[in-house]
Amino acid sequence: MLTEPNAVHIDPARPLLIVDVDEVLALFMHGFGRFLAGRGYEFRVDRFALFQNIYAPGAEAHLDIETGKTLFDDFFRFAAEDIDPAPGAADSLRHLALGANIVVLTNAPDYAREARARWLIRHGMDYPMIINSGLKGEAVAGLAARTPRPTAFIDDLIHNLNSVEEAAPAVHRFQMVADPRLRPLAPAALERHRRIDEWPLLQGAVADVLGIAPA
Ligand SMILES: [Mg+2]
Repeated sequence: MLTEPNAVHIDPARPLLIVDVDEVLALFMHGFGRFLAGRGYEFRVDRFALFQNIYAPGAEAHLDIETGKTLFDDFFRFAAEDIDPAPGAADSLRHLALGANIVVLTNAPDYAREARARWLIRHGMDYPMIINSGLKGEAVAGLAARTPRPTAFIDDLIHNLNSVEEAAPAVHRFQMVADPRLRPLAPAALERHRRIDEWPLLQGAVADVLGIAPA
């Protein structure tokens, strides 16, 4: 349960994997949709967006963005642990951790820190966690500088991957979208970042760039 990147222990003899939570280790949209249903709203997976996908039952126009943001805040306050892990994520991290440092880098709200840490532990992903805010390039560059070995970064959002490319171009970047419903909707930038949406395949590709055994 750490926020300060410098407080995270990184073994400089090992490569580093930095990994996002929502839509990478966790099926966020799925859990958020369940929460919204409990509040009497519909979550429609119409586009790769958050607030524009929330509707009153049967409505044609999505809910106003402010109400959507309030529901998002409430989800992280009251239901942050009620999300399912992405299939294969914990297994893959367990294998990769045999050869690499692993750091979880999430943009969850700070008030959800303990809930998120408990969730990671409960699902077999007890790795150091950093709460980030905004683009991830700076945090990734700082972490990658702490080992001379290769670093890999996994996120579902192109703007985070772009920001890492700009701040730390040597870091190997992978886009992963864990929820099959979102995959066809999620924009990719294949000329800039590799895209692998299944954990077993991603595990092999990450092991390869980090120079460690695949399993
Ligand atoms: Mg994410």
